[in-house]
Formats: sequence, structure tokens, C-alpha cells
Amino acid sequence: MRKPLIAGNWKMNLVSSKVPAYFKALDEAMAGADRGRVDTLLAVPSPFLSTAREIAQRSGVIIASQTIHDKADGAFTGEISIPMLQDLGLSWTLIGHSERRQYYNETDASVAAKTRASLAAGIHPIVCVGETREEREGGRMVEVLDRQMKAILDVCTETSDLTIAYEPVWAIGTGLTASDAQAEEAHAFIRGVVSQRLAGLSERLRILYGGSVKSSNIQGLLAQPNVDGALIGGASLDPAEFGKIAKIAAAR
Ligand code: PEP
Repeated sequence: MRKPLIAGNWKMNLVSSKVPAYFKALDEAMAGADRGRVDTLLAVPSPFLSTAREIAQRSGVIIASQTIHDKADGAFTGEISIPMLQDLGLSWTLIGHSERRQYYNETDASVAAKTRASLAAGIHPIVCVGETREEREGGRMVEVLDRQMKAILDVCTETSDLTIAYEPVWAIGTGLTASDAQAEEAHAFIRGVVSQRLAGLSERLRILYGGSVKSSNIQGLLAQPNVDGALIGGASLDPAEFGKIAKIAAAR
């Protein structure tokens, strides 16, 4: 069994001064959990990556960037580079979240470039894929996932340190969750695409599910053979709820 990864994404929420209280409450919520049985991660806004890292170290929570640029430096106003992340002692990032694809014109090609740069630098990317409601209703889920995954796999090898997050866009922040069977179908498809190209990677690859995950639905999702954790938006803002989800994952 792959060790579950419970990842939160704060998006553009909270402020730096709230971070200490967040981690105190998270530690309380996870009291009694066997923390070695689950990896926990939070992708926080860039201005408090450093503060969060210092505080999170004590609780063993990994801190990640929400995005990264593929170039090491240059005239890219507002962006965050891999050397900047490394300078803060960080080694994880989200890539290609659907909000980045939707609002910041990220494409399969730019997601692949960021993934390539991250892997080359030893930064561990959690790369997001997933279909929109229109694509699902049009029967195009498989086609979309296949296209998105092939772009990512073009820059991977058997030894790549990669995590995939399957996030059906229609389930993000909507309260709609894919059923356990829908999640498993997509995850199994993704693992199959990986296994055709990189069999070794497909065995150890963690595929997270994202889309309105809560403590009330995590158990069923994690019971699916190809679901190895979750990427959680809204519910990660509440440390008690996020801790409860991680504790359930640790108890499996
Ligand atoms: C996300 O933004 O990655 C996400 C899954 O959000 P939510 O949990 O709020 O649906």
C-alpha cells in the first residue's frame, strides 16, 4: 500500500499572523494519530511560505508552493522561482491547478515545462489534472485525462518523484464530490496511462483525489485501490477538519 498523502491548498486565504494558531489547532486535531502513517502537506500563499515552514517543521507537515515558474529567474512579475523555493528550504509545489489553468492561461505545455523544471531541480511536483463539467457531460473525460497525462509523462522517467492530483473541475469548491466509484474509475485510468509508458513509476505513483473532500467522505475515497490521498481546498482552511481527515487517513 502506498502511504497516503493528505494535502491542503489554502489558495488566496488566511494571513500570516493566523498561521501559528492554525498549526496549534491542527496538532490538537491530530493528537493520538500515528503521524508516521500519513504524509501531510499544506500549499500556502507565497508571502507566508517561510513562516509556515518554520512552524510546520515541528509538526512534520510539508509546506509547498501553490505554483512555480519554469524559468530560474527573469522578468516575470509576480512569479515565484524554483531557486526562491529552495532558498527557503522547500521542495514541494503544486503545478497546473485548475484555477491556474482557468485564470492564468496555464496549458498542458506550460504545465509540462514547470513539471520538467521542478523534477530537474529536485522539487517534488503535485501535478493537477481533471475534466470540466462540460467535458464530462460530453463523454470526454478519458480523452481529456489522456491528453493531460501524456503531456506530463513526456517530461518524466521511471524514477521521477511525481504526484498526480485528479481534480474533476466540477467538484472543486462546489460541494459536489465524485462518487467513490467515479474517483476510482478516473484514478485507475490515470494509473493505466502511466503504466503503459513507465510501469515502475505507475506502481509507486500517488494519485490524490481533489474536489470537496471532507472528513465525511474521505474514508470511502481512500478505500479505493487507486486513491492514495487527497488534495483539499475549502476544508483545509479549518485545522480541526483538516486534522480530522489526516487522522482518518493515518488510521487506515
Ligand atoms: C482544490 O482547490 O484543489 C479543491 C479540491 O478544492 P475543494 O476541496 O474546496 O473542492
